[in-house]
Amino acid sequence: MLTTNPFDAEAYGDKLREECGVFGIWGSEDAAAVTALGLHALQHRGQEAAGITSRHGLHFHSHRAMGRVGDIFAGKSKAVEKLPGEAAIGHVRYATTGETALRNVQPLFADLAAGGFAVAHNGNISNALFLRAEMNRRGSIFQSTSDTEVIIHLVATSTYRDLLDRFIDALRRVEGAYSLVCLTDEGLIACRDPLGIRPLVMGKLGEAIIFASETVALDMVGATYLRSVEPGELVIVNDEGIRSLRPFGNQHRPRPCIFEHVYFSRPDSIVDGTSVYSVRKQIGAELARENTVEADMVVPVPDSGVPAAIGYAQESGIPFELGIIRSHYVGRTFIQPGSEVRHLGVKLKHNANSALIQGKRVVLIDDSIVRGTTSMKIVQMVRDAGASEVHMRIASPPTRHSCFYGVNTPDREKLLAAQMDVAAMCKHIGADSLGFISIEGLYRAVGEQVREEARPTYCDACFTGAYPTTLTDQEDAERKHQLQLAAREFA
Ligand code: AMP
Repeated sequence: MLTTNPFDAEAYGDKLREECGVFGIWGSEDAAAVTALGLHALQHRGQEAAGITSRHGLHFHSHRAMGRVGDIFAGKSKAVEKLPGEAAIGHVRYATTGETALRNVQPLFADLAAGGFAVAHNGNISNALFLRAEMNRRGSIFQSTSDTEVIIHLVATSTYRDLLDRFIDALRRVEGAYSLVCLTDEGLIACRDPLGIRPLVMGKLGEAIIFASETVALDMVGATYLRSVEPGELVIVNDEGIRSLRPFGNQHRPRPCIFEHVYFSRPDSIVDGTSVYSVRKQIGAELARENTVEADMVVPVPDSGVPAAIGYAQESGIPFELGIIRSHYVGRTFIQPGSEVRHLGVKLKHNANSALIQGKRVVLIDDSIVRGTTSMKIVQMVRDAGASEVHMRIASPPTRHSCFYGVNTPDREKLLAAQMDVAAMCKHIGADSLGFISIEGLYRAVGEQVREEARPTYCDACFTGAYPTTLTDQEDAERKHQLQLAAREFA
């Protein structure tokens, strides 16, 4: 039976997706194996596909496949053995742009006049369609539907001579979010867009230099954290050493994604110098101060709500309890689209601990409400388990706007908070009360005194609509839509 609830992502087959993770290493005999390990630590950033490209001399070798890192590169897989060389880059992905197909799986590679060029990208280029159409008109033939391929074509068609100059020339034409690691004839290149929307860190393993989306990947391979790649910085590593360039000057004020702290990054990562775990606990404490409620226990929605729930419990003095238990054995493959079992949905993944909850007033904590599917099911589950009251508290402000920077949030009409006020949302999810942390509270939790309306220090567009870059493709789509509406009126 298909539900007609427009907010039910599973029914519509377009489940919420995360973004991507990148990893790169220069100067290790086990480059591909270390990359596979690093990607494994970044698996939470994308579980749809993974790939590694290695460089041996000036020869490039790639292996890309659908599925998880462990299945593709570990166990009986001999994939890593076929990736020789002392340098490698890797990628885990959910499709943020481009359909789900092997040709879109990264790293993307091209043999250019200026040499081999492999690229792994976290983020989303917000003028990719515009650039693609322009290059198509001039004869470029695209192999994939991924926004990342635009960078390769821009490098290929740049009028500069050297690969590095061509690459910088290409970056000047793209807008949006990109943390890139590229393997080229000249060495390993890592760079972050001028606003630093997506994270990227640098580490050291013996003599080898590593770049990764999150510090947890450095921990996993036993590397030491050196520093973040700065917003707008380009770092080149080769046998001559490490060079840092600032091709965009210093005029940009960074706007890293605040949702990395709320949800994406692993709690054991350090993002832009700050511990994600401690920020999440702080968010919980702020939430408790802003949204108090009389209750018997604080229960996290595992795993994403756990650190905030600890912070909420510590601040409010209400005991923290594991009122919902998560099964760690539910793979995506088990919940196949179209299969009957899919409709059991959340129940397969979460189960209420009824012996604990029975007759109790419960404060449920989750990191976010996007379409409301999860909250609705969890609230019902806790009620069914006998809770006398269910109060939902959310560790982020209402998600009212789509993300165009690499997080595949749905269109605005599917975002619950874009369609309803908090009271209506509360009714929709069936809770006794619903509260969100304020945007100011979230800024306090990440260590800022205030959110300066005119100059916010983070990208918080999903909550505020304050997009830090132009959104060419989005504006074009909007214009087209308006023209279609006007044409329909005249017809
Ligand atoms: P929804 O059920 O659509 O309201 O989604 C909210 C749930 O999805 C929360 O439990 C979050 O932990 C999780 N979530 C939030 N953002 C994302 C994302 N970009 N990708 C995957 N899951 C997410």
